[in-house]
Amino acid sequence: MSPKWLVAGGGISGLAAAQCLQANGRDYLLLERCPAVGGLTRTTQVEDFCFDYTGHFLHLRRYPSPAQVPFAHLNDDDWETVERKSYFFAGGHLITAPIQYHLGELPEDLRAECEKSYDERPKVEGDVTGFRDFIVSGFGQSVADRFLIPQNEKTMATPLDRLSIGAVKRFFPLPDEDRIRAGFANTGERFAEYNTTFWYPKRGSIDVLTRGLAHGLKSVATTEEIAAIDLDRRIVTTSSGRSVEWERMFPSIPLKALCMLTRDTQLTNAAAKLSHSSTISFNFGVRGKLPSELKDAHWVYVPDRDIPFYRFGCYSNISAAMSSPGMSAVYVEVGVPGESIARVDIISKTQRDVVAALEALGWVKSEDIICAVTHVIRCAYVHHTPERDRLVDEILARLNAFGIHPIGRYGLWDYVGMEDSISSALTTVEAQL
Ligand SMILES: Cc1cc2nc3c(=O)[nH]c(=O)nc-3n(C[C@H](O)[C@H](O)[C@H](O)COP(=O)(O)OP(=O)(O)OC[C@H]3O[C@@H](n4cnc5c(N)ncnc54)[C@H](O)[C@@H]3O)c2cc1C
Repeated sequence: MSPKWLVAGGGISGLAAAQCLQANGRDYLLLERCPAVGGLTRTTQVEDFCFDYTGHFLHLRRYPSPAQVPFAHLNDDDWETVERKSYFFAGGHLITAPIQYHLGELPEDLRAECEKSYDERPKVEGDVTGFRDFIVSGFGQSVADRFLIPQNEKTMATPLDRLSIGAVKRFFPLPDEDRIRAGFANTGERFAEYNTTFWYPKRGSIDVLTRGLAHGLKSVATTEEIAAIDLDRRIVTTSSGRSVEWERMFPSIPLKALCMLTRDTQLTNAAAKLSHSSTISFNFGVRGKLPSELKDAHWVYVPDRDIPFYRFGCYSNISAAMSSPGMSAVYVEVGVPGESIARVDIISKTQRDVVAALEALGWVKSEDIICAVTHVIRCAYVHHTPERDRLVDEILARLNAFGIHPIGRYGLWDYVGMEDSISSALTTVEAQL
């Protein structure tokens, strides 16, 4: 009997896993809950506007260019390299991001306060293990309290003192004294920074990547939500009542939700201790251009706790193809603790507050909003708590014993980008072939 290779979830990780299985002649099936594959790298098109699931920009480190992303069927001519233009809204101004390297752009009183606090930053004995301590000892109390702690607490939707520096990974600009001092002096000196450029399709949107990864797949079933997983019998049951056996399963379903589907005591107990944020992304199609201070901004971090969103972005400043001429396609991200997303009054409360804040900032006028699309990312940022590594290791070991090998950002309960998610899927599948 041929082995059953089951791919659970059809985002980019699941699609890459399925491509790899198909290329190796395996008898596989991909099950996807939604009517379309793509997961977080889908795009919603409404009349003149394209909206991704918030900004999704392709940063490549492993693969030199889009055409070299395995199984993605991409053509470099269809993509352009975009130089990042991101800002931090601080002291009523847009400061170049990352703010910790551009503090000299702050109004003078704030700059002086931050520099004094940087000079007096606490020295930590031994290794710094907490995210909050890392920020305070690296950048000083003022920069931490005014900008970096609220920004990250709004994004992750949890107090930072719960998180370890595992949350930082390579995405957080490090406390490099030369850069910080050059930033205070506003010398304009250029340092090499991470992710200063990214790839984005010239026409269409990030779902060009999804369509490429889905191209030619022969065994994909959509609108098939896995509702139960019987570990002993190695059978999944979908919400439509279909039963599928597996010998090897590659799930990109968030690890916490996957464990709960098994009803296995050890897995559910461990998973109950994992936490994450949700992100609500409000996308607006706007008549006209944005105000001049935002005319080239790709995205703006917003640490102010009185403003409901942690980031504002403009798709049409990244690619003109995201809206018709004379229009703007924008997005706003709101962080919510994962356990409370089901209780959020998204449209009549949060969206109303978001639009009021955009008006107050002078960034978007409500009468210019032509359409609104809301995307809810239930599992957005996993929380790297001190016990996360041990719990994930324990969970993966038990799942592996039943032939289940999670893949992708959420299957592996990590904070990584699209390229890493694809690569993790390929490495995991190849190890099982
Ligand atoms: C706010 C935000 C911004 C981001 N921006 C970037 C960026 O700019 N650049 C970058 O590289 N990365 C970015 N990422 C990370 C990126 O989204 C992920 O790395 C990538 O999308 C992970 O793909 P995936 O296939 O592993 O997961 P997903 O895209 O989540 O796919 C999982 C799939 O599983 C399906 N599924 C779930 N449960 C079930 C079930 N029970 N049965 C069947 N199917 C199920 C889902 O419907 C989904 O299709 C961002 C993430 C967030 C949250």
